[in-house]
Amino acid sequence: MTATAFAALPVSSKVAVMRQHLIDPEVCIRCNTCEETCPHGGIVHNDDNYAVLFDVCTGCGKCLDPCPTGAIANWHDVSSAYSVDEQFSWAQLPAQQAGLAIDATNAARLVPSPIEPPVVAASEATEALMVKAAAPASASRPVVNAFKRNQPATATVVANVQLTAAASDTDVRHIVLRFADGVFPVLEGQSLGIVMPGTDDHGKRHAVRQYSIASPRSGEAGEPNTVALTVKRVPGGLCSNHLCDLPVGASIEVTGPFGATFLMPNDPAAHILMVCSGTGVAPFRGFIERRRQMAAESSSGKLLLFYGAQTPQAMPYASYLEELPAATVLRDLCYSRLADGPKTHVQHRIRASAAVLSALLCDDLTHFYVCGLKGMEQGVEEALAEVCATAGLDWLRIRDRMRSAGRYHVETY
Ligand SMILES: Cc1cc2nc3c(=O)[nH]c(=O)nc-3n(C[C@H](O)[C@H](O)[C@H](O)COP(=O)(O)OP(=O)(O)OC[C@H]3O[C@@H](n4cnc5c(N)ncnc54)[C@H](O)[C@@H]3O)c2cc1C
Ligand code: SF4
Ligand code: SF4
Repeated sequence: MTATAFAALPVSSKVAVMRQHLIDPEVCIRCNTCEETCPHGGIVHNDDNYAVLFDVCTGCGKCLDPCPTGAIANWHDVSSAYSVDEQFSWAQLPAQQAGLAIDATNAARLVPSPIEPPVVAASEATEALMVKAAAPASASRPVVNAFKRNQPATATVVANVQLTAAASDTDVRHIVLRFADGVFPVLEGQSLGIVMPGTDDHGKRHAVRQYSIASPRSGEAGEPNTVALTVKRVPGGLCSNHLCDLPVGASIEVTGPFGATFLMPNDPAAHILMVCSGTGVAPFRGFIERRRQMAAESSSGKLLLFYGAQTPQAMPYASYLEELPAATVLRDLCYSRLADGPKTHVQHRIRASAAVLSALLCDDLTHFYVCGLKGMEQGVEEALAEVCATAGLDWLRIRDRMRSAGRYHVETY
């Protein structure tokens, strides 16, 4: 709405309205990524919730893509802004206020930049933003946040198998959950939240923990209504130990699904370049399984996997990957703590494959994914910059082009 059109509204509609950026407390997993990302110090938290400072937020949108759950992508049209204390007190977002008209002057400042003013209804705005956050063009449309903390889905554990060698220091589990009646539709690359039972020492509910889905959309081993997770037991960690100790038959509450951009292209001609360490392999197992199912449709796209772990014994799915034919996935497995061999990280392997990679990165059919521990991205980026420089290419230009086309994705935790 332009200022002229606003002026022409009937008096009853002329409530000066602003658009306020808010965080959904039912979806937020309290990971702090947004607070770390915001260049303006626009996000704060207490023991309960994360909140956006209305007077500080410029609507730059920089916190949106890094948020792993989409909890941050909410805008409400308000006649007066919700305070931080109000946001801290919420168990869920308040309902959108109906019948408000946007004051174009305020909207221009407060609407995040991906959405052009004049503004649209907030729900449409959120939708528009999710599209602009650039999933692969051929990806299926995901369902997100269908189950929130106050109304989670219930699943039953149907398998819990140790993936790493018993003698290894690392305990990583392949855990399969079954939902009733197909209630939890997922796409490869999405994740879900696990609701820890009980409360902390102060009587507060535990934060939901997020886990990548390691199975394809059709379910684990073709079983409908199931998802697989790849869970590493973290020493002293609350949720990972709870999950790793769950017996078959146990019941568990689940939120999500999360993730609208780290998705697999459906295009069978797409080349998928995957770089990961440890449990970061989880979404890529889902990608590989999906591509195996699509093989009947003669996928011409290549799958390439660069995957690092400390030792072969500590690498989840090592034998599964080694048994796959190269026609399914070209994999480069490397180890950083071999007792009697070189200590190799994925960056080293990326540099060693410079010729193949520089050609692939110039191909508009190539989609690039990184998943694993925080901090991994930088080493991978530096290696790719070197690979490109050797071939006379500009990595930053290539990366930005891929990112805006929905072909560059990073998920680290
Ligand atoms: C997008 C995304 C995807 C993810 N995917 C996966 C996945 O596929 N697989 C996977 O295994 N994980 C995944 N994670 C990580 C996962 O969500 C959890 O963070 C992880 O399992 C640890 O949770 P926890 O409850 O076990 O540990 P927490 O209880 O949260 O503890 C975390 C750390 O703090 C330490 N700590 C806890 N309490 C104390 C204390 N009182 N004093 C000192 N130190 C303490 C713990 O020792 C541990 O090192 C993902 C995270 C994100 C954001
Ligand atoms: S889930 Fe999103 S909104 Fe919540 S703390 Fe993490 S980044 Fe912020
Ligand atoms: S939109 Fe920009 S200013 Fe506002 S909270 Fe997000 S990163 Fe901070």
